[in-house]
Amino acid sequence: MAYEIIDNCVSCWACEGVCPSGAISPGTLHGKAHFVIDAKKCTECEGDYADAQCASICPIEGAILNPLKAWANPPGSLTGIPPERLAAAMAEIQAR
Ligand code: SF4
Ligand code: SF4
Repeated sequence: MAYEIIDNCVSCWACEGVCPSGAISPGTLHGKAHFVIDAKKCTECEGDYADAQCASICPIEGAILNPLKAWANPPGSLTGIPPERLAAAMAEIQAR
């Protein structure tokens, strides 16, 4: 089982240096440059840390999936802004 970086990744490099297994490196997905996790190397940080270090440091919501294929940092979890409130604010801005 492994964590997985998905499209929302903005290639900020933050996770690359904190992975205890050297599982994270620059790569591409769907033709877009962003970081990837080598599933064969990811240990879920077991034995090194209580929490997945990549997910703990990632500043972007929805960029990393946990082994259950759920967002490690779901929308609103880092900003504190409820997703429905953000969607309403964005709709209001776009209507201006
Ligand atoms: S969960 Fe841990 S071992 Fe797996 S990629 Fe993230 S930092 Fe590396
Ligand atoms: S910390 Fe998050 S946004 Fe930054 S490179 Fe890693 S997965 Fe991508």
